[in-house]
Amino acid sequence: MNEQPQEKPPSSMKPTTVERGWADLHTHTTYSDGLLSPPEVVSQAKAANLRAIAITDHDEISGIDAALNAAKAFDVEIVSGVELSVTHKGIDVHVLGYFVDHHNPKLIAFVKDFQQERRLRLDRILAKLEVMGKPLSRESVLIKAGAGSVGRPHIADAMVDAGFVESYYDAFNQYLADGRPAYVPKKKLAAADAIKLLHDTGGLAAIAHPGLDVPDEIILEMVHAGIDAIETVHPRHGDARRQHYSSLAEAHGLLTTGGSDFHGGRKINERLGDFRVTYEVVEKMKNYLSKVRTTWV
Ligand code: AMP
Ligand code: ZN
Ligand code: FE
Ligand code: FE
Repeated sequence: MNEQPQEKPPSSMKPTTVERGWADLHTHTTYSDGLLSPPEVVSQAKAANLRAIAITDHDEISGIDAALNAAKAFDVEIVSGVELSVTHKGIDVHVLGYFVDHHNPKLIAFVKDFQQERRLRLDRILAKLEVMGKPLSRESVLIKAGAGSVGRPHIADAMVDAGFVESYYDAFNQYLADGRPAYVPKKKLAAADAIKLLHDTGGLAAIAHPGLDVPDEIILEMVHAGIDAIETVHPRHGDARRQHYSSLAEAHGLLTTGGSDFHGGRKINERLGDFRVTYEVVEKMKNYLSKVRTTWV
């Protein structure tokens, strides 16, 4: 081999991607259906040796400031994110937003509207449960939800407390899951509107966990609608899916992302950082946004 003299000593070489650290870019807090507050999630991120995490609460951004404040003490980088409930041709798609401006009035107004819609949906689910002889008070659910967006996980928790079901999963399987008797669909955004909202607020849009029943045709339509990334790393994606979605991303010039979809221990055996990506993914996002952002806003 033709050895070239090194211009710099090895110690100043650029660290490898792994040496630059890890990021978990899909986490939920008490502001949606996670069990840990934003500071608690940040503290666990430090313990898990993560350099960065994205806070991606369902249809909610109010937890981001608390995470940013906590992050100062823990030296963990926070990516301001959100996970939007979207529908496209009758298929439910979750769309992750990254680097959104969480003080943007349009995004705040959107989130407030979603909160209200979720509360109306709660009332409809409670009415159905009451007819089935499982009356729950609104307060018993709202107390589970705390400050953030109320969802079926909070109803499931309240049902366990009331003794109506044995477990959180029983509550879904018997009553709350799609197709079960107390199911009520929630308000969802059209895909193009979600992508526009994220772009308008300075962020980029990623399809979350497509392996959970999002057909490839829908992904391709989202690509045409302007999606920027695909979540390839996720607890519900095996190796085959991860590779498939990585190839799809590459073929369409999209970024890839990933994380543990952490809910603070709500899901069995989950730990923050168990599913993670290299910090290079965060750098690529920043780089991408610095190039394309000006064309959106
Ligand atoms: P919601 O936003 O109110 O529709 O609630 C959605 C959340 O409920 C998801 O993010 C999951 O955490 C949880 N969930 C949905 N379906 C199920 C299910 N079949 N079993 C357990 N948890 C579920
Ligand atoms: Zn969730
Ligand atoms: Fe999701
Ligand atoms: Fe999620």
